[in-house]
Amino acid sequence: MKKQYLSRNEFLKLGGSAILLSLAGNYKLLGQSLPNSQHLVDTPLKREAYLKRLLETICTDIGPHRFGTAEYEKVALIYKKEFGLASAQVVQDWVPFSMWEPTSRPVFRIGNTELETMPYKGIAGTPKGGSTGILKKAERGNSYKLVDSNDKVLATVTVNSYGRAISSSAYRNDREIGYVDPAQPSDPIFNIGRQDVPALEAAVQNRSPVMVNVQTRFLPPKPGSSIIATIPGKSTEEILFLAHADSPYMSPGANDNTASVIVMLMLAHSFSGTVPNRTITFMATGGEEDGKVGAIHYAEKRNREGTMKNIKFVVNFDSLTWGPNLQIYSRENDIKDMIASIHRDLNIKAEPKLFDGEGYNMDSAPFRGSGGKAMYVNSRGYDGITLPAYHRPEDIPAIVGADCAEIGFLVFREYINRLQKL
Ligand SMILES: [Zn+2]
Repeated sequence: MKKQYLSRNEFLKLGGSAILLSLAGNYKLLGQSLPNSQHLVDTPLKREAYLKRLLETICTDIGPHRFGTAEYEKVALIYKKEFGLASAQVVQDWVPFSMWEPTSRPVFRIGNTELETMPYKGIAGTPKGGSTGILKKAERGNSYKLVDSNDKVLATVTVNSYGRAISSSAYRNDREIGYVDPAQPSDPIFNIGRQDVPALEAAVQNRSPVMVNVQTRFLPPKPGSSIIATIPGKSTEEILFLAHADSPYMSPGANDNTASVIVMLMLAHSFSGTVPNRTITFMATGGEEDGKVGAIHYAEKRNREGTMKNIKFVVNFDSLTWGPNLQIYSRENDIKDMIASIHRDLNIKAEPKLFDGEGYNMDSAPFRGSGGKAMYVNSRGYDGITLPAYHRPEDIPAIVGADCAEIGFLVFREYINRLQKL
């Protein structure tokens, strides 16, 4: 049977031969006035140094940078400056945002035993003193309901299948019905790590009393930003790259999603100083982890301006560096085939996994109306080593594979080149 994933060691043993590929650069410099930052990323070593430097600055020096915070806006300014080296057309797009925060330590207790838990973002709190009930397995998915003696739902309990408890988003605009609505937050949702599933199952069996408690508040709306850089082409037809710039709650977000934004920056540098056939737009979105407010806001702007239909291709980078094997979700077989053939032609030592997803997932969803060919890109391959850090404080620069970032860069630089010729 064919192996689907390389281990990290197997991958490293291959010697990163991908990086020895010749650089098929054939760039035309059509005007002295065009910003040109190609020199920043024109060798594998420079790309690795660039990745490490930005990861250090953003994830170690600044640390967690969730949307709505001063730390996030520091990061956005770094991206604005870096994109400014590659493009004269950089826009900071502001959106109002009501930040959620817990005001008490989240507690999840079965009898006298406390389990680690994280509350979802954008939820209502429990009543003061918490809610007590019994757990029932939910009909669908890997989740549970906490119910009272009348079977009224007090809270939802979800499980993180990758590792320990995480905070995910429960913002109402995840359903694309508008912006954060603090007046109607979701009912309480608590996440539990996969290691505690046996304890949950026992609680269901034994009808043990379960107590949950968290108090929350929404801060008044204030603006948060996304950064959009354009490399104008000969045609207004456009390739749109997206990668979210905000980190999950309590996580430095090195793999999710800082390294992906850095790969996107490398692509911008690499095509700087050129006039491609198709316009290339790079967007570092704000607030993906909080209801994708930044992407929704910018998509609405494009609709208002009447330029949404210019977008012919959409690529959403979300966590490219968990492992070397890209996971591509798209319903367009031709672009999936293209990614597979790029791996073969560039002799990339990794196996892309192609899925029949919509491609308009997460931050690319608001751009569905463009009708462009879309793909959503994640990654796997160092399973058991990096993925347990998903949305956790452990997602730090030390577990970002520079080899994975290099694969993302090589594959999508070639993807852009091939799209230019279509
Ligand atoms: Zn992400």
